[in-house]
Amino acid sequence: MSLPVALLAPSSGWTISADVIVIGSGVAGLTTALRVRAQGRSVLLVTKATVDEGSTRWAQGGIAAALADDDSPEEHLRDTLEAGGGLCNEEAVRILVTEGPDAVRELIAWGARFDTDPTGSISLTREGGHHRNRIAHAGGDATGAEVSRALVAAVSADPGIEIVENALVLDLLKDHGGVAVGVTLHVIGPGRRDGVGAALAPVVVLATGGFGQVFGQTTNPYVSTGDGVALALRAGAAVADLEFVQFHPTVMWLGPLAQGQQPLVSEAVRGEGAVLVDDAGERFMLGEHPMADLAPRDVVAKAIRRRMRVTGDAHMWLDGRQLGADMWVHRFPTILASCRLRGIDPVTDLIPVAPAQHYASGGVMTDLDGRSTIPGLYACGEVACSGVHGANRLASNSLLEGLVFGRRIADAIENDQPERRVIAQSDMHDARNTSGSVVANTIRRSLQQRMDIDAGVLRSAESLVEARTWIDEVLSNQEFRGSPRTEDWEATNVITVARVLVEHAWLREETRGSHWREDHPDAEESWRVRLVTTMDHNGVLRTERQAPEWIPGRVST
Ligand SMILES: Cc1cc2nc3c(=O)[nH]c(=O)nc-3n(C[C@H](O)[C@H](O)[C@H](O)COP(=O)(O)OP(=O)(O)OC[C@H]3O[C@@H](n4cnc5c(N)ncnc54)[C@H](O)[C@@H]3O)c2cc1C
Repeated sequence: MSLPVALLAPSSGWTISADVIVIGSGVAGLTTALRVRAQGRSVLLVTKATVDEGSTRWAQGGIAAALADDDSPEEHLRDTLEAGGGLCNEEAVRILVTEGPDAVRELIAWGARFDTDPTGSISLTREGGHHRNRIAHAGGDATGAEVSRALVAAVSADPGIEIVENALVLDLLKDHGGVAVGVTLHVIGPGRRDGVGAALAPVVVLATGGFGQVFGQTTNPYVSTGDGVALALRAGAAVADLEFVQFHPTVMWLGPLAQGQQPLVSEAVRGEGAVLVDDAGERFMLGEHPMADLAPRDVVAKAIRRRMRVTGDAHMWLDGRQLGADMWVHRFPTILASCRLRGIDPVTDLIPVAPAQHYASGGVMTDLDGRSTIPGLYACGEVACSGVHGANRLASNSLLEGLVFGRRIADAIENDQPERRVIAQSDMHDARNTSGSVVANTIRRSLQQRMDIDAGVLRSAESLVEARTWIDEVLSNQEFRGSPRTEDWEATNVITVARVLVEHAWLREETRGSHWREDHPDAEESWRVRLVTTMDHNGVLRTERQAPEWIPGRVST
C-alpha cells in the first residue's frame, strides 16, 4: 500500500506572492494574519470557502483563560494536564495558560465583545474538566460567531492583507534545499486567478482546521477535511497524535442515518446544571467520576457509550429543564433555536444525545513557535499538534490555542526575518515533484461509515485491521479518470488522514484519553509516548515513538 504523494503534477499557471501565506480563515489564521501585519509584512490569506467558514464560527461554549481573581494559570495548567492523560507537553501547556489571558485581552481590543456581569466584568462559566469558572463566552452560546465576526472585520480593514476566497490549497512547493517556498492552489474565479496557480512566499502558515469529515457523524463543518495534515504528510513533515480524536458526549441525536455536521449541545449547558439521564431517568454519571456530569469529555463519552450498550438504546438524554426558560433564552439562544428547529423544546423536553466526532487533538507536529519539521512551514490551531492537548483536549482550550500560537508564529517570523526571494520555476517543485494521484470522491461516504464503526469512540485490533484493509484495498484499486474536482482532492486528503489515524490507533495498545481500546482497557506506562509519522517519497508511512516532552528541531543537551 502507498498513499498519494501529490495532488497535481507541477503546474505553470498564474502566480501570486506575498511575505507570508496564511491558509485558513478561522481563529488561528486570522490571528496569525493580524499579528504578522502588525510587524509590517504583507499577508496573503487564502481560504477554500468564504472567509467566515470553518469550525471557529460554530464554537458555542467559549474561551478558557485564567481571568478570574480566584484563578491562576497554574490551576489552568493542572486541569489541562489532567485532561491530557499524561501526554501533554508541559512546556507548551505553560505557554498556553500564561499567555492566554493577554491573548484574550488582545482579541477584545480587536473588537470582540464578551458577555459581562452586572459589574461589567467578563462573565465566566465552567465546563467539563475545569475546577474554576474560567470560560469567557459571547452572545450566550455564540462565542465562535463573535470571535469570527471581530477577527474578519479587523482583517478586512487592513489593506496589507489580501484575502482570496474559494481557493483550495493543494500541495506545498519547496526549493531544491527542501525549504517551503509556497503552495499550489485551485481557485474558483472570477477574474484572472481562475483554475490552478501558485502562491509564493518564504513563510507558509497552515491554519486549515480539523478533520471531522473523516467520520460520518461530526460537529465539524464540511470544510474540515484534514487538508493541512494531508498536505504536510505529502511534503514530508511529521504529524503526531492522530489517534486522539475527541468525541463530544452531547451531540444531538438525529437518528441512525444522520450524516455530516450534527448539532452540538455545548458542555456549558451541563456547566449551568443540566444532567445526563438514561431512558429510565437514572443519572448514570453519579459514581462514574468525582465531577459527575462535568467530568472530562472522554470520561462522559465513554460512560454514555457504556450505558447505551447496557440499555440497548441508541442515545441517552440531556435533562436541562431545571435551567428554566429565562436561562435557555438568554444564555443558550443558539442551542435553544437549534433544538426547537428539530421539534424539541429543552425548557420542557429532554434532548436526545450521543457522542460524535468533535475535535482532532493531533495534527502537524510543531515546536513551541509553530514551526513544523519543514523549514518555512508553520502550523497553528486545530491542524497543529503543539503538544497542548495530549491525549484529550480540555474544553474551550482550542480557540485559546489559535490565539496564543498565532501570536507566537508572528513573533518567530519577526525573529527569523525570512527574505522574499525571486524563485525560478525550474528551482521550485511541488512536494514530491511527481504526477498527481487522486482518489475519487465516490469512496467518501463508505469511508466515513467505516471510520464511525471501526475507528470511532470504541476501537479494537480487529475493527482497526478491518478499517485498514478496506482503506488499503481502495488505495490499491484506485485509477482516477478525468479532471479532479474539489471533492476528489478533499476525498484524497480524507483517506490519507484516515489511514494514518487507523495505523496509530491500531499500534496504541492501551486506553488513554480519547483513545478507547476494547481489547486493551487500561493505560500502560510503556505507552506514555507520542506516535509521530512521516511519509516518504513513495507514499510509505514511517511511525516512531517520542517522549511527550520531545520537541521537533530542538537539540537535546
Ligand atoms: C460545533 C463546535 C463547537 C465548538 N466549541 C468550542 C468552544 O466552545 N471552545 C473552543 O475553544 N473550541 C470549540 N470548538 C473547537 C474550535 O472551534 C476549533 O478547534 C477552532 O475554531 C479551530 O480553529 P482553526 O482556525 O484552527 O480552524 P477553523 O476555524 O476550522 O478554520 C479552518 C480554515 O481553513 C480553511 N481551509 C481548510 N482547508 C483548506 C484548504 N485546503 N485550502 C484553503 N483553505 C482551507 C477553512 O475553509 C477555514 O477557513 C468547537 C468546534 C465545533 C465544530
